[in-house]
Amino acid sequence: MIIVLKPGITEEGIRHVVARVNELGLEAMVSRGTQRTIIGVIGEEDRIRSEPLLAIPGVEQAMPVLAPYKMASREFRPEDTVVRVRNAQFGGDSVSVIAGPCAVESRESLFEIAEAVKRSGAAALRGGAFKPRTSPYSFQGLGEEALKYLKECGEAFDLPVVTEVMDTRHVELVGRYADVLQIGARNMQNFSLITEAGRTGKPILLKRGMSATVKDLLMSAEYVLSQGDSAVILCERGIKTFEDGTRNTVDISAVPAVQVASHLPVIVDPSHGCGRRELIVPLARAAVAAGASGLMVEVHTCPEKALCDGPQALLPADFEEMMRHVAVIAEAMGKTVQTGQGKRSKENASR
Ligand code: PEP
Ligand code: MN
Repeated sequence: MIIVLKPGITEEGIRHVVARVNELGLEAMVSRGTQRTIIGVIGEEDRIRSEPLLAIPGVEQAMPVLAPYKMASREFRPEDTVVRVRNAQFGGDSVSVIAGPCAVESRESLFEIAEAVKRSGAAALRGGAFKPRTSPYSFQGLGEEALKYLKECGEAFDLPVVTEVMDTRHVELVGRYADVLQIGARNMQNFSLITEAGRTGKPILLKRGMSATVKDLLMSAEYVLSQGDSAVILCERGIKTFEDGTRNTVDISAVPAVQVASHLPVIVDPSHGCGRRELIVPLARAAVAAGASGLMVEVHTCPEKALCDGPQALLPADFEEMMRHVAVIAEAMGKTVQTGQGKRSKENASR
């Protein structure tokens, strides 16, 4: 249910409405817009009725949220949610880039890659510790050893760390080392995992399943948000189509589609989206031009030796080029690229 408050309502009036909503056994989330203040009301569906809410002074309207996802919907919260993780900022007028290797392979290579991406303006470091591999015989990740390297490296370069958690049994462990918990495409609808992750209070990077609709993605975000503790960053990472020239098909339309339906920030991962190095920079440009709040890309200093996803890894020079293009496009859109150093503008983009 959403409550629209009367124009010009005072702060005291708003506090009164919130107190009344709470007395009815419901939770209130206040969104202050430029024109109107709206309150999202959460509680068991059959306990929320509009009549008692309409009786509260200051309430103009009380109406049900029509979308099946409630807390994730734009109706519930009209303004963009901005998720802040140290210098990285996802949502609103910010563009932040998460970069790093597919998998953490060694301490030395992670530091080398982190140094390169930091220099070019990455706002966060990625790297898999637990890898969801199609084959059980492929490299599965270094586990906790990788988490330790990630934490150390993130601190050394002042970059927040994003890494995937694949199993409910590892949520606590990964949460001890990472700043953002990534839920991979294969686990987007692993409801016990996303519920557990949503209880940590850590921001969750929720990747779209390869056969999931935008609505499915938002329903999964709702699972996380309904736990009450974690913020959500959505990630379009390509979906399965009949096209077989690319690993997946990056659904650029998902970016504005999410933004119409939801207040949550959405970023794009062109690396897993297409699987081909030469297509990643153009797709990154398209994603930012479509309004994405950021990117996630895989970078490796020696892709031919990468233990995972070498063919889609950008070289540091490619990444530098991508960041220059992203700065120009972001500026044209009135946005700011948030880097590990703070803001990046077109003027310092070539440095
Ligand atoms: C990843 O980002 O490391 C990954 C495995 O991506 P996805 O879940 O999108 O396949
Ligand atoms: Mn990968």
